[in-house]
Amino acid sequence: MDFIDLKTPYARHKQEIDNSIQRVLDHGRYIMGPEIEELEGRLAAYVGVEHCISAGSGTDALLMAMMALGIGIGDEVITTPFTFIAPAETIAFLGAKPVFVDIDPATYNIDPALIEKAITTKTKAIMPVSLYGQCAEFDEINAIAGAHKIPVIEDGAQSFGATYKGRRSGGLTTIGCTSFFPSKPLGCYGDGGACFTNDGNLATRMSQIRVHGQDRRYHHPVLGFNGRMDTLQAAILLAKLETYDDEVDTRYRLGGRFTDQLARVAPAVTAPYVESYNASVYAQYTVQSENRDLIIKELALIGIPTAVHYPVPLHRQPVFQAIEGVGNQGPFPTSENAASRVFSLPMHPYLSTDDQDKIIDAIASVLGSTS
Ligand SMILES: *Cc1c(COP(=O)(O)O)cnc(C)c1O
Repeated sequence: MDFIDLKTPYARHKQEIDNSIQRVLDHGRYIMGPEIEELEGRLAAYVGVEHCISAGSGTDALLMAMMALGIGIGDEVITTPFTFIAPAETIAFLGAKPVFVDIDPATYNIDPALIEKAITTKTKAIMPVSLYGQCAEFDEINAIAGAHKIPVIEDGAQSFGATYKGRRSGGLTTIGCTSFFPSKPLGCYGDGGACFTNDGNLATRMSQIRVHGQDRRYHHPVLGFNGRMDTLQAAILLAKLETYDDEVDTRYRLGGRFTDQLARVAPAVTAPYVESYNASVYAQYTVQSENRDLIIKELALIGIPTAVHYPVPLHRQPVFQAIEGVGNQGPFPTSENAASRVFSLPMHPYLSTDDQDKIIDAIASVLGSTS
């Protein structure tokens, strides 16, 4: 059993994907070829925004967004300590300070009720993460940000295709960023990412930043870097987008089915909580249990892979202990509690219901033998 199956979707759509790749090999425009603009148009329409700026990775997308907003040395950006390191890392990389705010215990997303207290005169943005595929509380977050005239950047690396009150992730904030890393809900065959916005000035700045701050050849009005997506990755994404709606539907159905089945092992294992107005894409199907380590060990013995997203909250990461004022934040009891209890089950659109049943049976049998 695969934790995430990347081979089956390729096998099923091999012809379309191979043809799309071959077209790039034939025209040879490997950098900023015609597939880039075509993909950006398609992604902008999908998300429901005016501008999409494709990027070399989700990490590049976060950097491009913050650089376009002028975030740099001495600034503060409010974010969550319970996620992958990229948001806090990119904030610190620009010389700004990631200011951590604890999460909501049910959704694992940043707790909007705690944001206001963290705002100072140095706060230049709020960067919530839509963790595991469920959007953060954007109405509340945008209202707080609006009152302080601060932009909001969604890290939607795990939530491409998710909806919040009927609107798609990526189009809910000043700038939305996502990742097309192979194991993300919409994955390419290497690194890729994108920024989304309705603000034309920010869009122009981000598209300059990703080509070394160029506005025309060898003329550089702003500081940039190489943040481009490869044409080959755009071609692969164009082919994969054709089936993405079906895959999102399947993720939604399989996630719901997992949650129903987990009632068998409640309350020893807690299923993810999804707000009624959210549709999660379940980038990870993450549960929690006191008996996490035992369950993981026993499942591994019978060939069921699991993963822990994430075992160490970011304020505890060694790298941040060395950066003045970053590592000594906290305590963040909800993040720390989650880090000690969560684990993710195999989840992808090609997971069979038989495999789902096998996973639940295995968890039930581990718990049965402990009680
Ligand atoms: C994967 C991920 C990223 C980084 O994306 P890359 O494309 O790997 O650079 C950023 N934020 C979160 C929450 C992620 O899960």
